[in-house]
Amino acid sequence: MRSKQPEARPIFDGCPEKPESKKRGLVFIVSGPSGSGKTTLIKRLLRDKGYKGNLAKIVTCTTREPRGKEKDGRDYIFLSKKEFKGKKEKREFLEWQKVFGEYYGTPLADVKKNILLGRGVILCIDVKGAKALKANKHFRFVRIFILPSQDNWRKTLKTRLKLRLSESQEQIKKRLKLAEQEIASSKDYDYVVVNKDINEATEELVSIVASERKR
Ligand code: 5GP
Repeated sequence: MRSKQPEARPIFDGCPEKPESKKRGLVFIVSGPSGSGKTTLIKRLLRDKGYKGNLAKIVTCTTREPRGKEKDGRDYIFLSKKEFKGKKEKREFLEWQKVFGEYYGTPLADVKKNILLGRGVILCIDVKGAKALKANKHFRFVRIFILPSQDNWRKTLKTRLKLRLSESQEQIKKRLKLAEQEIASSKDYDYVVVNKDINEATEELVSIVASERKR
């Protein structure tokens, strides 16, 4: 089933820039399969001195259970299915998707708030969410895909997923299957960053963000 996205809504109400303006708010979409290291890379990007206060990662909502040391409000806003549905009906999400049987959604108000404060916004969302936002002309989206490694990505992902000890064998299998489809979509992204070496990948991400902010 295709999810209906709230694109038709005048989501820029109250924002200074109009959709046709060249100065639309800058939104970086970061996607990549589970275990690609996207969360770590984003954390490192936000720690970069040049970006302190100028970039904001949006904490998204999910109906899945917290994993390991995940904290409500920091890693995700953990919601019940009923709470999620309520927000969806009130059109509080910029986009939302069902991933691995659970719901995930980007709170629109947080995106707008940060854009109004002049910040670049980072969304760590899946490939379907990135696709759904293609038709949205209210923001300037820059899409970045994180690949775990150029060759042998399956082995790299499997090892990383096993090491984090938060998924069952069955869940790891599902995530690897989805990874295959997601990697095939990486061609639709503006940039592909290969996370073979975390320092090099961080540098690459920092320079992408720097050059896009200058445009
Ligand atoms: P995980 O359960 O591993 O934290 O996340 C599963 C997938 O959902 C990841 O690809 C993650 O980036 C994505 N995701 C997290 N929040 C959102 C969201 O608000 N919207 C969409 N479309 N995907 C999300």
